[in-house]
Amino acid sequence: MSVFDDIHRTHYTDQVQETLIGQVVSIAGWIEDIRDIGKVAFLTIRDIRGAAQVVLSANTLSVAKDKPRQSAIIVSGVVQHSKSKDFPLEIKAEKVNIVTEAIHPLPIDPTGRVESAIDKRLDSRALDLRNPKTSSIFLLRSAVLDNIRTTLRSKAFVEVNTPKIIGSASEGGANLFGFEYFKKQAYLAQSPQLYKEQLILALDRVFEIGVYFRAENSHTVRHLTEFLSVDIEAAFINYEDAMDLAEEVIRNTFNVNKIIDRTDGDVLHDRLQLPTPRFPIDRLTYEQCIEGLWKEGEKLEFGEDLSDASLRKLGEIHKGFYFIKDWPLKLKPFYIHEKLDNLELSQSFDLQYGYLELISGGQRHHDPVKLRKRLIDQGLNPMNFDRHLRVFGWGMPPHSGWGLGFDRLMMVLTHSDNIRETVLYPRDTERLIP
Ligand code: ATP
Ligand code: MG
Repeated sequence: MSVFDDIHRTHYTDQVQETLIGQVVSIAGWIEDIRDIGKVAFLTIRDIRGAAQVVLSANTLSVAKDKPRQSAIIVSGVVQHSKSKDFPLEIKAEKVNIVTEAIHPLPIDPTGRVESAIDKRLDSRALDLRNPKTSSIFLLRSAVLDNIRTTLRSKAFVEVNTPKIIGSASEGGANLFGFEYFKKQAYLAQSPQLYKEQLILALDRVFEIGVYFRAENSHTVRHLTEFLSVDIEAAFINYEDAMDLAEEVIRNTFNVNKIIDRTDGDVLHDRLQLPTPRFPIDRLTYEQCIEGLWKEGEKLEFGEDLSDASLRKLGEIHKGFYFIKDWPLKLKPFYIHEKLDNLELSQSFDLQYGYLELISGGQRHHDPVKLRKRLIDQGLNPMNFDRHLRVFGWGMPPHSGWGLGFDRLMMVLTHSDNIRETVLYPRDTERLIP
């Protein structure tokens, strides 16, 4: 590749190192800053991996001098030492190509010098991503997804994709988006629950990383109407095994070295400050949690779901990760298996990080007769689950699984207190664009 090729770079900014001194390189990115000091000017060019200083003089100065910040630019020149306190090296420009000029005023300042509220940033998300603080969230997101895939693949899980347009409600009617589909009623999938259970019948262990939809009319920092979920389901494992798998997946995502390996080079090294939670993760029972809350003066009955306020209180008592297991059966969906030694309780768990629920999981019913009875107990019509129930007659093994709210995991990893920070184009009750 020629360095004079107009649209190619030879190096990303972070690859411009000592060993290249005296050589001609070409870098490409966006003008972050121009400091004109007379006969020369210093240009800061940013690309996805960092920033570099470019020195302009004579011809190159006249090309770039008054160009607007955030314009796309390609520069080639010789690498040399720099006297700047920010850059040990710089590129003495020989050729400058302003590819497209940015049109000012820009809606937000992507350098972050002028801070904008999250809503304003989301309105101009593509530009917001030029801010390294923002882009690092999404570099990390990509690396973590890769890391989760690797963990699950190493445990014999098969990645699957199930439909998101479905003909009947998979978990009862609440929170469903419905729409007309060629004169039939259709819905957007809330979870892959029924499909993943069917698939373990032959594939044994499956996982899916997909988006799901919930008509959550809630205005919280942890609910979106469209969110990314990591779901697993496996035959011949119980809910303790499922918790082990969740713990291993989570532990690997907090291993900085494993994550860094999955990004190109060291981009995230300086930017990353992953939390350092304690492992192994405590496994508390629902009962222990309730007793803890009673001690703190919280008024709630055994068997009640944990309200937002109770969860906030629990999060103060237990920092970091903890499982809440053995939930009252009546709080859990029809497919969750009761405990064998206490029929009021279930073989279920949630993984919490402080107040935030990240995962729900458990052992499922595999006996179609019991499953049918559970549907009726919960006021659902087994006729609507006909096609699902008949699969259970084809030799359904005992099985367990879980669903992880991936955007919420990213909140924890990036210390974000709003889920909208971790999703490129979030969807909520107010926001449908961009
Ligand atoms: P919550 O009680 O927080 O509303 P949930 O119990 O209704 O969550 P589940 O059906 O258990 O959610 O879904 C599994 C996981 O998917 C949750 O633990 C959470 O991490 C994630 N999740 C569920 N709903 C949403 C949502 N609206 N936005 C973002 N993530 C979600
Ligand atoms: Mg849940």
